[in-house]
Amino acid sequence: MPSPLLQLADEASTCTRCRLAEGRTNVVFGMGDPAARLMFIGEGPGQQEDEQGLPFVGRSGKLLDRLLLEEIGLTRDRCYIANVVKCRPPANRDPRPDEIDACRPYLTQQLDLIRPAVVVTLGRYAAQWLLETTEGITRLRGQAYPFAHGVLIPTLHPAAALRGGAEPLAQMRSDFVRAKLALEGATR
Ligand code: URA
Repeated sequence: MPSPLLQLADEASTCTRCRLAEGRTNVVFGMGDPAARLMFIGEGPGQQEDEQGLPFVGRSGKLLDRLLLEEIGLTRDRCYIANVVKCRPPANRDPRPDEIDACRPYLTQQLDLIRPAVVVTLGRYAAQWLLETTEGITRLRGQAYPFAHGVLIPTLHPAAALRGGAEPLAQMRSDFVRAKLALEGATR
């Protein structure tokens, strides 16, 4: 009998709940340790993620892996990585509200099954969606919020650090350190 997370991934692999199904190559459900204490949530797959069916495998993913190792001392197989929407929006446009709503049950169930102590959101969409706010990411980041089974730590999207240079990168580093401290403080 497959695990509930695998069953959910299987269900998502043929999903047609929104128009993003029409243009996708693969559903990018998520990857990593199903019992991870640390979970990253991005916005949605880009071209390389769509082609490979795995989250954060392009340039942003390389930066995520680097910060994860340098600031938290973990590799991606020790965490879980997912996105707000599981299918690539055409031409990398922003996901639309109805697409986010259609995909919502998958992420909600992933969170319920994995029960991470620390959730790090990457970029505006994931933070605003999970914290149910319209506040911008620059105001949201820099602190931890009580969330589900632990805390939520919003940080910038790695693409912003790739575009923006030293300052956003330093902000991401400090958010990752906050996540490490939260992990150390979280009871098992
Ligand atoms: N950007 C995201 O938000 N998610 C990915 O999986 C890749 C890039």
